Amino acid sequence: MCAVRADWSMDHDYGVDRLRRSYDSVPPGQTVRLAKRTSNLFRPRATPRTPGLDVTGLGGVLAVDPVARTADVQGMCTYENLVEATLSHGLMPLVVPQLRTITLGGAVTGLGIESTSFRHGLPHESVREMDVLTGAGEIVTARPEGDHADLFAAFPNSLGSLGYATRLRIDLQPVRRFVALRNVRFTGLTELVEAIGEITGTRSWEGVEVDAMDGVMFSPGEAYLVLGTFTDRARSVSDYTGQAIYYRSLRERTHDTLRTHDYLWRWDTDWFWCSAAFGVQHPVLRRLWPTRWRRSDVYHRLVRLEHRHRVFARLDRIRGRQQRERVVQDVEVPLENTAEFLRWFARTVGMSPVWLCPLRLREPSGPGSARAWPLYPLRPGRSYVNVGFWGSVPIAPGAADGAVNRAVEQAVAQAGGHKSLYSDAYYDRESFDRLYGGAAWRAVRNRYDPQHRLTGLYEKAVARR
Ligand SMILES: Cc1cc2nc3c(=O)[nH]c(=O)nc-3n(C[C@H](O)[C@H](O)[C@H](O)COP(=O)(O)OP(=O)(O)OC[C@H]3O[C@@H](n4cnc5c(N)ncnc54)[C@H](O)[C@@H]3O)c2cc1C
Repeated sequence: MCAVRADWSMDHDYGVDRLRRSYDSVPPGQTVRLAKRTSNLFRPRATPRTPGLDVTGLGGVLAVDPVARTADVQGMCTYENLVEATLSHGLMPLVVPQLRTITLGGAVTGLGIESTSFRHGLPHESVREMDVLTGAGEIVTARPEGDHADLFAAFPNSLGSLGYATRLRIDLQPVRRFVALRNVRFTGLTELVEAIGEITGTRSWEGVEVDAMDGVMFSPGEAYLVLGTFTDRARSVSDYTGQAIYYRSLRERTHDTLRTHDYLWRWDTDWFWCSAAFGVQHPVLRRLWPTRWRRSDVYHRLVRLEHRHRVFARLDRIRGRQQRERVVQDVEVPLENTAEFLRWFARTVGMSPVWLCPLRLREPSGPGSARAWPLYPLRPGRSYVNVGFWGSVPIAPGAADGAVNRAVEQAVAQAGGHKSLYSDAYYDRESFDRLYGGAAWRAVRNRYDPQHRLTGLYEKAVARR
């Protein structure tokens, strides 16, 4: 095994030891929680009153095995660091979420998705085994089979309510130097959905292989699929970390090529299109805004400041402007209901642009080999489209803050889909239990955290609003 750190087991043991000691110092009866530097959660969180678990020694890549095509990675390692380590071996994780500071543990327990998801499913589906610190303070190694298979299955979408992953072994895939892109325009959603179905089935479009697929809807009459093919050849490459802005390029060019590294982080630089809220897309301010601050974690910190101080909301109120409801969601809709859902969305919510990312549960050994995950029950063999929208809408006169988010929850449920839980959620406990595998979650929690030291899933995802 080609170790990224020669002495990884010692370093790792040291990190785990610190974590354990910090767990032991939490008085019985007090909730155990993580003290993590970065986060991609969007719902407001109460300021913690007690110190969290020390994860400072758990942020690295332990080893990359180019022969077995696996990596051993610590739970709090960011994808930015993980990708840097694997690309130097000509490899990448099967699915790399778009935001640089998403951690592997966070993406496995909180779900993640990207343009390779129509081939490889979600990040948790490339985990071979993981070490988990349970609520009872034990470290267990969970695998798809064996003693802790129940924890392995229930961990995805448990949001840290069943324990914290300290080390994960994941599958990697070979990668080439560039990604050639085709930006294919659709003027109708029915045609768009048909194309997604064809590409998901054949993994090609007009005779050319498709390795990656996502898309953007600007309106029901103007949507694009971005079809990526890994290649070693490029006549010229684009760079969207400077003045040019990636999402605009979809409307401006039919073909493009990016370095693989730049492709993986193409959405991070402008946080998809959300950097516009800070003026970063204005040509003058963009020149002044340091390149190193064109990153999703910088924007995220600014948003957190606003959540805390509500400066813009107060200014709006003083100026007599309409108050706004934050609508930041990613939802998964079955492919066959996607066009209808998007039309409903354009009519009722009206936010634009909207990100589209097709997905299917991973089939590691061919059709029919996908496994199901109880806390996020997508159906094996069925195609879905992740629809992402991040912004705010004016609160209509007489309507309550949250009304649009509730309407989205209802429309998604009617379409037979699911909603990710990183942002605002309004479900009542019974519906939440039904949609997110409540019975399976409780059985695993009672086994691994009998004293309920970790915050419950419903409390994390909904009740703390
Ligand atoms: C605007 C926005 C857009 C997004 N878009 C995408 C997207 O396009 N693609 C995508 O893949 N994802 C996306 N996400 C979701 C993101 O992947 C998840 O929220 C993920 O959980 C974030 O990982 P993190 O490491 O930042 O975790 P955090 O935000 O720090 O934590 C998330 C939860 O996971 C728990 N947790 C963290 N680390 C561990 C661990 N090692 N073990 C167990 N539990 C842990 C925490 O306790 C917390 O409850 C988006 C989120 C936002 C806010």
